[in-house]
Amino acid sequence: MRIIGFTNGCFHGKNRNIFSVAALNKLKLKGTNALELSFDPLADQTKLRALLPELKKFKYISLHMSSRYDYSGGKIMTKILKNTLAFYQLCGAQLVVLHPDVVKNWQIFQKYPINWAVENMDSNKIDFQTVSSVGRLLAQWPKLKMVLDLNHCYENDPTLKLANDFIKRFKNKIKEIHLSGHQNSKKTHHGLLYQTKQKQIVLTCRKIKVPIIIESYLEHDSDIEKEFNYINKLLN
Ligand SMILES: [Zn+2]
Repeated sequence: MRIIGFTNGCFHGKNRNIFSVAALNKLKLKGTNALELSFDPLADQTKLRALLPELKKFKYISLHMSSRYDYSGGKIMTKILKNTLAFYQLCGAQLVVLHPDVVKNWQIFQKYPINWAVENMDSNKIDFQTVSSVGRLLAQWPKLKMVLDLNHCYENDPTLKLANDFIKRFKNKIKEIHLSGHQNSKKTHHGLLYQTKQKQIVLTCRKIKVPIIIESYLEHDSDIEKEFNYINKLLN
């Protein structure tokens, strides 16, 4: 069975607690065995640790670091990385994902025994949309892994040639897929695939067998199963 699940980031938005036990429970469906936890490494560690029993219900866990820091160095950075390592080991995560455009200093990441990964970016970011720009970073830091964000690929190239080029070039580096429908909306560009009906985005997942994390924005609880069922049907 394919490793697949949601990120708690799917619930982002006003007055929603993405770190509640209830939120995580909603994402544990019959067919989901993976979870990506979007987290702030300087947030209250007690709150994060309270989630550990819930995380045990998933076979695959990855963490997504907040993009609010510049990851340049100094005391705060040491605290961020120490907290991340501690939580990574406690929850048995397999990957920690970062947005490459926010990181100022990759050197310091090397000291921590964590599977670090970067994702290809959307068109609003300064860099890292193309195979060559992501490739430069991966060549510079050989231990770094990649997360293929198919929404970002689609936004940059709706023919999905870009996505296929990433897969061809980095088959061994890509350790996870981010999946959502693409829409141009003020609220979010991570649309629900069962509504956008971009089948070709989902079908691209069949070309590489790595864990899939669904990032579609879940406005209503009823979207969770509808979105999962739509995707799952196309994958099988
Ligand atoms: Zn993503």
